[in-house]
Amino acid sequence: MNFIEVKNVVFGYDAAENGEETKKVLKDVSFSVKNGEFIALLGHNGSGKSTLAKMFNGILEPESGSVSVNGCDTKWEDTILDVRKSVGLVLQNPDNQLVASIVEEDVAFGPENLGIKPEEIRRRVDSALKAVDMYEYRHHAPYKLSGGQKQRVAIAGIIAMEPECIVLDEPTAMLDPQGRKEVMDTIIRLNRTKKITIILITHYMDEAVLADRVILLDQGKIIKDGTPKTVFSDVEFLKTHSLDVPQATELAYRLSSSGMKIENTPLNADECVEALVKALEKN
Ligand code: ADP
Repeated sequence: MNFIEVKNVVFGYDAAENGEETKKVLKDVSFSVKNGEFIALLGHNGSGKSTLAKMFNGILEPESGSVSVNGCDTKWEDTILDVRKSVGLVLQNPDNQLVASIVEEDVAFGPENLGIKPEEIRRRVDSALKAVDMYEYRHHAPYKLSGGQKQRVAIAGIIAMEPECIVLDEPTAMLDPQGRKEVMDTIIRLNRTKKITIILITHYMDEAVLADRVILLDQGKIIKDGTPKTVFSDVEFLKTHSLDVPQATELAYRLSSSGMKIENTPLNADECVEALVKALEKN
């Protein structure tokens, strides 16, 4: 059984609110997510990424079609709490997610709401703060932390609920390069060592290439779904949809357009250097 199953999902906001037939934000979206996968969800502003993110833990329900987590449809009321425990959501702005005046109290907030016993909460808070490398800041005030540190505390708050999957909606958009690196390192570590399934919405292609799989959404439809290598190899296709490719891929693409024979699609600086050295040896 797949961990998350999205089947023929159609959704429009006004329809959800007034029952009217209006513009659909998601149009027949289907895909599945395996346990432990790291997926990057890409697309223009307004393509429906955040709407889809809110479907994974039942904040929004499809108008037609279905979303299920561990075999439980997000429309089923008796299992919605299990779904919410399984899939945690981290948003763009850490300031909107931190609620307490002390870091460790903030991280405890989620498990407290789940009705977890105090000694178990203590264990989870310590373990979550260690997982994001913020344990030494446990007695600090969140507002004094850097953007990257705040976002890591927000992620710890989700980890403390021990989800199987974390959905992150542009978690690095408001951060400086250092903060972005801290958050991305944390996400990768959680995926690789704790086997937490990751669905990352991002505008940064250098973050997307770190995923196992890239899903491209355009005007509410999936237009590509594959490994970063296969998706970013089709530079022409991405360009016709005005989508970016990683810088290394762009450079190799331009060089091959001007006649240089470059094999493989490089996704990062190291792969680009390797491809260029090979190409220069041959030319
Ligand atoms: P993305 O995350 O890819 O930028 P969104 O899912 O946020 O896309 O938005 C998709 C479309 O839905 C946009 O046209 C947006 O204006 C609209 N939309 C998003 N949230 C709401 C809302 N709460 N009410 C009405 N329309 C919305």
